[in-house]
Amino acid sequence: MSECIFCKIANGEIPSNTIYENDNFRVILDISPANPGHCLILPKNHANDIFELNIDMTKEAFGLSKKIAEAIKSANIAEGINILQNNGESAGQTVNHFHIHVIPRKTDDKVVLKHEPSKLSDKEMNDIKKILTEKIQQF
Ligand code: AMP
Ligand code: ZN
Repeated sequence: MSECIFCKIANGEIPSNTIYENDNFRVILDISPANPGHCLILPKNHANDIFELNIDMTKEAFGLSKKIAEAIKSANIAEGINILQNNGESAGQTVNHFHIHVIPRKTDDKVVLKHEPSKLSDKEMNDIKKILTEKIQQF
């Protein structure tokens, strides 16, 4: 995965605005931020997405998102915070190296993350509930 830009950034081969680093992760400022302070958490070892990241690294990554959220909150640069993590093109992933967005938010900022609400029938709701209740036992 030598051509992966986030591998190069995470391992310090390409410069970045790093705000935190440990053995497994680098946290950088997004180059095109939704708002000032928009951070990306990058594992140093390549994984395309959440499905390729092992459970320990996944826990550590989301644990780190709390640390970053606390830093943003205590810096008084946001009224709210979104934690966002995209997997796959259909979900908006544009860089195929796992990353978590930590996005500072303010009332009436220009960031749009909303979905169009839909309504499922009782059958549709029960069918999806049944499938997921079964599948979750495998993990
Ligand atoms: P996603 O759409 O979830 O894959 O998010 C990719 C994010 O990476 C976007 O918010 C980009 O602005 C950001 N990004 C892309 N290239 C760089 C880079 N070289 N340095 C910092 N952030 C980047
Ligand atoms: Zn990579």
